[in-house]
Parts: sequence; structure tokens; C-alpha cells
Amino acid sequence: MSTSVDLWLATIFEEVQPLFGKGRVADYIPALARVEPNQFGMAIAMVDGRHYAVGDAHVLFSIQSISKLFTFVLALKLIGDDIWQRIGREPSGNAFNSMVQLETEHGIPRNPFINAGALVVTDILTQRYAHLDLALLNFLRRMTDSPDLNWNKEVAKSERDTAHRNMAMAYFMKSFGNFVNSPELVLDNYCRQCATEMSCTQLAQAAIFLANDGLDIGSGEQVLTSEAARRVNALLLTCGAYDAAGDYAYRIGLPLKTGVGGGIVAVIPNIGTVCVWSPELDAKGNSLIGGYALERLMQLSGWGRMSLA
Ligand code: GLU
Repeated sequence: MSTSVDLWLATIFEEVQPLFGKGRVADYIPALARVEPNQFGMAIAMVDGRHYAVGDAHVLFSIQSISKLFTFVLALKLIGDDIWQRIGREPSGNAFNSMVQLETEHGIPRNPFINAGALVVTDILTQRYAHLDLALLNFLRRMTDSPDLNWNKEVAKSERDTAHRNMAMAYFMKSFGNFVNSPELVLDNYCRQCATEMSCTQLAQAAIFLANDGLDIGSGEQVLTSEAARRVNALLLTCGAYDAAGDYAYRIGLPLKTGVGGGIVAVIPNIGTVCVWSPELDAKGNSLIGGYALERLMQLSGWGRMSLA
């Protein structure tokens, strides 16, 4: 039986069809440039256990910067508020891979969701985990009940071979004393985490603890305290879409994380999570159709009228 959620998804699926071809697939990582652009998937996981999907919601894609959300959660679990000694929590207003603020701000990145901040997060985790890729995969496999979930070797290598700017940022932060491990090692881990492949349905499921006071529904695991989950959501709302975070908050109004693979994961506190994927990006590196689809979902559902607190 179709529910209103199914109808909203069907409406959005129809509406996005004329939008293909208006953005550009990320091409600065060669392996991503080969992704077929005309794809669109959307999945919703509700805190009451129901789930919904439309289009290519079961197709695996490169989660890229969405991984920053999960590594940040792992680091927060590991060192708690000490993380704020090494990373700020303000929107950067600059591109995802910008390094201009690092010099005047003494090697402290603005927030954990831009590349510089995510590299520090990966540095923290690299210190703790001999095999960080497996630690992250195991976490995501548990959250999604998907033992086959993995990272893509070709994408990781392609990004690693071209990671000059990220490497420069890591060395720059090291010169300020804000990097512990060798940048080479951290970049290996970072490129693997970005190359993780997941589907919309898996990503919506993996993030559901953020909509549910830190408690994962499938595994019953308390991933974060309710207070910590609320704080992660606040950071996602203000910093999750790079230098479009303000525009996204205005249009969509949800804590969310975007990635250059074209995925976006959004949290609707106490209701559920949404993941949308379409590979063509806008000028700021966020999924063009994905942003539209989320905006429409919030209009159709009225969920955005509820308090985010
Ligand atoms: N792996 C990408 C990079 O570091 C992630 C960027 C993104 O998804 O926004 O350049």
C-alpha cells in the first residue's frame, strides 16, 4: 500500500528528471569522473523502523566526504571534548579543500567537515587504530547490518595519486604542531575512508542514531549520548555543506553532510534520516539534484516546520 511518504518520493522522482545535465560530475578524482551522471536515488529511514526508497536507492556510490561524519563520530567517542583542542566548530565560508584560513588560524581547521578538519580527525584515529579502514568499515557494517560493505581500491588509489592539496594541508598543519602521524599514512587512511561505497538505503540506516538521541535502532547500540548526538547535529547544520551551509540551512534546514560523490545524508531529529544521491554537482561541490530533492521533501512533508532541538 502506498503511503504519503511513497507519494512524496514518487513526486520528487518525477520532478528531478528534467534536471539531469545541469550539473557536473566531480572530475578532480579521475575514478569519479567516470561515474554515469544520470542516476538518482533517495531513501528514508524512520526512527519507528519503517523505510522507503525510490530510484537508484540501492546502487552503491562513493560516499567521499560523508565519511567525515562517521570518522568524526568515532573520534568524538574516542577523545570527547579534547577534540576541540585541535579543531574549531565554526563554518568556514570557504571551499571544502581550501587552506587559506590555516595560516592565520595557526594550523587549527575551522571545523571537522572541511578537508583540513577531517584530516586532523583521521590523524586522531590513525593514532588509535592500526587498521583504521577496518575500524570504520566494522562500524558501518554494524550500523547497516551489511557484512560486505567495503571501500573501492581503484577510487582510493585514484584519489591518493592526486591528493597533492590534501597532502599539502597535512604538512602545513604538521608545521604548526597539529598533526601527529606521518601525512603519508594519514592520507592513505583518508583516501580509503572517502572511497567507501554505500547505497542510499545503507547510509540512511547508518546515520539513524543521529535522529534517535544517539541510539542505533538496528543494533540497539548507544553510539553517542543524546547530548553528543545533538551537538553533532548542530555541527552538521552549520558546517555540513561546505561554503553552501548557509544556503542549505535556509533551503532545507536540516543537519546534513554532503560528498563530492553526489550523496547527501540528512537528519530529521526524532523522525528519521534521508539519503539522496545524484552524481552531478553544483558549483560548490554539492549534489545539484540532491539539494533540490531534499528541499522538495521538506516542503511536501512539512517536517521542516518542527523544531530541530
Ligand atoms: N575525497 C574528497 C577530497 O578530499 C572528499 C571531498 C568531498 O567529498 O567533498 O577531496
